[in-house]
Amino acid sequence: MTNETWGAIRESLQGTVGRNNYTNWIEPLELSALRDGVAVFHVPTQFIGNWVSRNFGDQILELLRSAGAAVSRLEFAVPSEKPRAAPSTTPAAERPGRSGSATRAARPSRDEAELPGAPLDARFTFETFVVGKPNELAHAAARRVAEGGTVTFNPLFLYGGVGLGKTHLMHAIAWELQRRSPDLKVVYLSAEQFMYRFVQALRDKDMMSFKQLFRSVDVLMVDDVQFIAGKDATQEEFFHTFNALVDQNKQIIISADRAPTEIPGIEDRIVSRLQSGLVADLHPTNYELRLGILQQKVDQYSDQFRGLEIADGVLEFLAHRISTNVRVLEGALMRLFAFGELVGREITLELAQDCLADILRASDRKITVEEIQRKVSDHFNIRLSDLIGPKRVRTFARPRQIAMYLSKQLTSRSLPEIGRRFGGRDHTTVMHGVRRIEELKTTDSQIAEDLELLRRALEA
Ligand code: ADP
Ligand code: MG
Repeated sequence: MTNETWGAIRESLQGTVGRNNYTNWIEPLELSALRDGVAVFHVPTQFIGNWVSRNFGDQILELLRSAGAAVSRLEFAVPSEKPRAAPSTTPAAERPGRSGSATRAARPSRDEAELPGAPLDARFTFETFVVGKPNELAHAAARRVAEGGTVTFNPLFLYGGVGLGKTHLMHAIAWELQRRSPDLKVVYLSAEQFMYRFVQALRDKDMMSFKQLFRSVDVLMVDDVQFIAGKDATQEEFFHTFNALVDQNKQIIISADRAPTEIPGIEDRIVSRLQSGLVADLHPTNYELRLGILQQKVDQYSDQFRGLEIADGVLEFLAHRISTNVRVLEGALMRLFAFGELVGREITLELAQDCLADILRASDRKITVEEIQRKVSDHFNIRLSDLIGPKRVRTFARPRQIAMYLSKQLTSRSLPEIGRRFGGRDHTTVMHGVRRIEELKTTDSQIAEDLELLRRALEA
């Protein structure tokens, strides 16, 4: 990937994002490096970086990939005079926290060159993590692990839907461990990066140093482990690394988008290993937590957006209406900030409604299990009572499994909750149904088509 290639990609974005967006956000981007699957862009301010990441990140990633670049993640950095230093040489005042600059990345380790970890986000600390009912267990467990000392549960397995704070908590643990014991080798990386490293080591015929590297860490954190599902060689290697570290009594922290038993394509012995410590889930947010997070973000960014006024009731409105995930909520707030700064007046409820119309509309569409059941029984021309009822004949059982699968995919209901809505079935029955459809989807084109039709009808 050369700078010309990036230049061409940048140009091509002009067509899709529109003139204004292009000059505001895309034009200032400078591709500065591409290594280990991470494309690093220089941006004039961190705000621009955050904005681009939220609003155009996926598009840029897509374009880079189709131009042949092996990129799994984008990073936005404000170039500075001094080289990016490891925190061990960073004065205390610059440590992350409420006042830390937005996403200045740093690695919590002394021998930066050697350790295989990914950079940590300076905003993701315990100080900035808002605790509420839905995440209190995960938070407490994370705090406990962050104290260091004796390993009480290994691994700590955090799971939950997208945007609920898994990555935030993991980074917070890493920062805190590093603060308490600067010499500790803490390594955080995504499962995807782990695989990338592994494949690279295979290619370079350098498995020895790969193994040594990972076995020498004190704390290993692997984010989004569902990624290695179905990737057998990577899984195998991960398993060995995992066991080696557990045997040495080193702390491991794992995250995934679902519970260990619910990840299809992961070997049983790995599942049982993953479950052998503490499994803590992050539940979907509730109103109080969302409001708390919004208030916290307003505080956090008040330095950056001086003099910005938000009218009473606006935050409450957002917390009430945007219930999907925290990332969306945060994105909405950032957009309001940017908009408020642009127009230079107080952000009122009307302004918010205007400016966030698309996000609000998208959040409105909450698909329910009941809706799915109705659509599915219509589609297969069977009675709702038969779909939900006990009969096991194929004509009812298959649509039932499809409805369970869609419920898992399109709602935030847990397996037990879905089971209850299907005539009080056990969660293992639901899981079995979901898995069955997951398999059939790839082998049976009729089922794949039915799923697609139903999904579209439901999301319309
Ligand atoms: P996940 O890894 O679960 O998909 P992230 O950890 O990336 O989610 O969180 C998405 C965004 O929401 C981040 O910017 C994070 O800081 C924010 N966020 C999530 N939960 C909380 C919380 N409880 N308090 C403050 N910010 C949160
Ligand atoms: Mg994450």
